[in-house]
Amino acid sequence: MDPEIPVISLIEMGIIRDVTVAAEQVSVTMTPTFSGCPALLEMESLIIEAVQTLGVEQVVVNKQLNPPWTSDWITETGRAKLKAFGLAPPGMHGGNVTMTFFDLVECPRCDSKNTKLQNSFGTTLCRAIWVCNDCLEPFEQFKPL
Ligand SMILES: [Zn+2]
Repeated sequence: MDPEIPVISLIEMGIIRDVTVAAEQVSVTMTPTFSGCPALLEMESLIIEAVQTLGVEQVVVNKQLNPPWTSDWITETGRAKLKAFGLAPPGMHGGNVTMTFFDLVECPRCDSKNTKLQNSFGTTLCRAIWVCNDCLEPFEQFKPL
């Protein structure tokens, strides 16, 4: 599971890029959401732990920084889980991130598009704080990256 958003898995986040099984060893290739992500070491040990519980002793985690992670890699299931968690999922941008910053974000609680950006940084660097003008609830958005 993602250490920062425990309702979504690293696979649903699009962070796990590849898994190979060779003889007694499993290699997992991951692309962190951004290279300075403070949860990086934690993610690495969570991956090793998860594979070891399957009975594999040797687990190697490779980090692949190119191409960089994009929020477009978050799966459909992952987006639905973010929303159910109260975190507005990032819009799909197909590489053109600047456009999505000006899009209105849908309130994850009442689906209203009558929302206002309150702060471009939330509890983590990859989140922004919005307020819904209809249900008056503040909510966080997972930024399109
Ligand atoms: Zn609302």
